[in-house]
Amino acid sequence: MINFCNLYSGSSGNCTYIASENTRILVDAGVSCNKIIKALHEIGIELDEIDAIIITHEHSDHTKGLTTISKKYNIPVYANIKTWHMIESLNVKDTCKFTFTTGKEFEIGDFKIYPFSISHDAVDPCGFSIFHDDKKVTIATDIGHITEGVLHQMENSNILLLEANYDDETLKCGPYPYQLKKRIMSEKGHLSNEEAGKTLAYLSKNNVQNMILGHLSKENNFPELAYQTVFNEIDMNGNICNLSVASRDFVDPMITL
Ligand SMILES: [Zn+2]
Ligand SMILES: [Zn+2]
Repeated sequence: MINFCNLYSGSSGNCTYIASENTRILVDAGVSCNKIIKALHEIGIELDEIDAIIITHEHSDHTKGLTTISKKYNIPVYANIKTWHMIESLNVKDTCKFTFTTGKEFEIGDFKIYPFSISHDAVDPCGFSIFHDDKKVTIATDIGHITEGVLHQMENSNILLLEANYDDETLKCGPYPYQLKKRIMSEKGHLSNEEAGKTLAYLSKNNVQNMILGHLSKENNFPELAYQTVFNEIDMNGNICNLSVASRDFVDPMITL
């Protein structure tokens, strides 16, 4: 059994809960410790019941809560070595620091976890495929560009959380400075609704059942627009599947596999 629950998703902070019968982990801790505690309460979990936190990359919308969590709790935190160098100032206790290697599977309790490299403007950013009981959950946000390798990594996921960060036109016409727009649209930036749609249309024919759009920009996207753009693409070029949009500030319904 795998329980999956998106607690927070978006450029203002990311945190996802994934649990088996015996193991509970969080992917990223990009909001305050208090907000994580509050969200976990909504699903009946205490923060000290979490066995580990795994970190995709150093940006604050993925790491913001670590300092307080490490001060108050003894939860192991896993990141790759380059990411650890970048977040030294967050003062995670040495006894709670664990290192994985991108591209090499590791285990936490019941879970086998495969961190794969993604294209983003961080030092060694990764997505995760998490395996238990013949089930596969993949989280891939903060992706400037979908490579062939990443596309294959996402195939056969029972749940896929994929970024749909911005709508092209909304970003182009929006208030962001030119350089920032360029950064977001670059291969090391974020994924547009359209690119997410094309990716998911392909994956809908490659055994992905539950698709969740995440990490939406507050300024350059709208949940309805992201959903509709991706839905149209799947409708034209893919197969019907479960599609939803992760909430920015609300705990989403638990998905049980
Ligand atoms: Zn990022
Ligand atoms: Zn991010």
